[in-house]
Amino acid sequence: MARYAGPVCKLCRRESQKLFLKGTRCYTEKCGIERRGYPPGIHGRQAARRRKQSEYSVQLREKQKVRRIYGVLETQFRNYFQKSAARPGVTGENLLVMLERRLDNVVYRLGLAPSRKAARQLVLHRHIQVNDRVVDIPSYQVSPGDEIRVREKSREMPLILGAIESRGKEGTLPWLEVDFKSMAGRMLELPTRETIPIAAEEQLIVELYSK
Ligand code: SF4
Repeated sequence: MARYAGPVCKLCRRESQKLFLKGTRCYTEKCGIERRGYPPGIHGRQAARRRKQSEYSVQLREKQKVRRIYGVLETQFRNYFQKSAARPGVTGENLLVMLERRLDNVVYRLGLAPSRKAARQLVLHRHIQVNDRVVDIPSYQVSPGDEIRVREKSREMPLILGAIESRGKEGTLPWLEVDFKSMAGRMLELPTRETIPIAAEEQLIVELYSK
């Protein structure tokens, strides 16, 4: 599937907040938001000053923000929404849970990659196994009990070692467990809204798509 291949810091600047798309750089002063905290484009500074947003615009921006955090294109995001709406429970929460269960996201959450984009590359390049089988589909939905492991031959990769070095200290989420020694982790249970650390108002996305 196609991917956005443009400058990612622009995406954060468009949403006027850090989306943490670039790994360790996001925590340094080189971060695009730290250096230029206004929207991109020649009218970016004026737009930041004007800031009176319509209801539609607020909903659209929220959807774009979440979509960009998880690195999902519009069609796929809408598919996630439709599946979420068809499931029992709260649609907005279902949507976030589906996004969190993506294999690239789980690899990132476990601390085996510095960003979701890097995690996606690891999956696509066949460095990741789920339950002892190589899975190269970033959107693969991880289920409780699944074991995610870095392949034996990939364990010396600087990208993975660097991620463990820097992100390993953060600790993992309550629905995951990880053992950095064996470069493996497990989903213990499905995430809930309370255990998904995303500053988003998913209800706005539901309202947008329900128009
Ligand atoms: Fe966003 Fe990270 Fe770029 Fe900062 S460095 S603007 S958080 S992608």
